[in-house]
Amino acid sequence: MNKLVLSLIFILSLNIAFGQFNQIQSEDKCGYDPVKDAQLLELYGDNWGYGYDDLLNDIAEWELSDYIQVQSIGQSTQGREMYELTITNFNPAKTSKRRIYIHVRTHPGEVQSFRVADEIINYLSAENGIGNYLRDQCIFHIVPMYNPDGVELEYPRENANGVDLESNWNAGTPEIEVQNLRARFEELMLEDNPIEVALNMHSAHECNRFFWVHHPNGTSTQYFSLEEEFVESVRSHFLEGIMPFDSHISWSGGNPGQYPESWWWTNHQETVMALTYEDMNCSSAGLYDQTAYAILFGISDYLDLGYTGIKENLSDVSFNIYPNPVKDILSIESDLPSSKEVSLTIYNSFGTLVYETTYTGSTKIDFKSMNLSSGLYIIKCKYDEYTDTEKIIYSD
Ligand SMILES: [Zn+2]
Repeated sequence: MNKLVLSLIFILSLNIAFGQFNQIQSEDKCGYDPVKDAQLLELYGDNWGYGYDDLLNDIAEWELSDYIQVQSIGQSTQGREMYELTITNFNPAKTSKRRIYIHVRTHPGEVQSFRVADEIINYLSAENGIGNYLRDQCIFHIVPMYNPDGVELEYPRENANGVDLESNWNAGTPEIEVQNLRARFEELMLEDNPIEVALNMHSAHECNRFFWVHHPNGTSTQYFSLEEEFVESVRSHFLEGIMPFDSHISWSGGNPGQYPESWWWTNHQETVMALTYEDMNCSSAGLYDQTAYAILFGISDYLDLGYTGIKENLSDVSFNIYPNPVKDILSIESDLPSSKEVSLTIYNSFGTLVYETTYTGSTKIDFKSMNLSSGLYIIKCKYDEYTDTEKIIYSD
């Protein structure tokens, strides 16, 4: 064999190795671990605690809001609807509103991404505070369950065809779910006020909250500084909870092509801030309302919307209830003045009251001592005219 052939074989084997490395990397974006995934399914219960029926129930409730319209962007492989919420103040409809798109739960096992999105929906549909402000300034589109088949089949990462939708964007013929979402992106990008922020919501086994930002080698130096601006805007509202912008940098070898963000960069470059957010996919996950609050404030800051409202004015942000799921002690904290009395009630999934109390400041509830069965519970914290409702999973 001559030197040329040898070096060709060497380059070829490097490519194969590199290709495999890329494949592993794409699977590991959120953390791929069948054992851990099975444990988390066990911990959360059927469909990781939130299935397609739960979505249908919530949609029936969301549709009652004057600020939410629900439509389907198409059907999944097995014919389930891919629902999208549009949230804004529809009347008066301003044409210059800024547009934000959020799609959630590509990886079915990453239910925490939905819990954060659920809080985002709560804020955006609340009467007061940042919700009202953002509805006047923006149009939010949220797909809470992008991969309903995977959720129902209890696949941790795939759709009904066994394909990971997250890394399917450059396939010759992408999966129908990818086609539907892409068609919707394309449609909205033709509007006079196209999408400016596109978030792709996941959660990671490494048990940290962070954004995947993209190296200038795969984007541009301008984009990299915009990514820093965006992530640090979000972080500034939850400094202790979200990792610095440069903690997770990918694409140092160029745009990998397969991700939704790859599609965004290829087609719209700096005009759309497209990022994957990772919540915590582990038993100590929680603080979803605080995370949602930071994301909304971060978007507001990034788009220079000028919202300066203080936290006390926000009807739904005052309570941090954690951890979720809870095994024994549930903590409830708020930044309400300590003179404010809070009325706390807990209901089981059938709506039966199982606990009630009043307190001021903060409180702790010992679930273990209450002899309740494992499952979903609804916690309501009420003060004055405000009520914060949270779904908590108790696992003894
Ligand atoms: Zn994921």
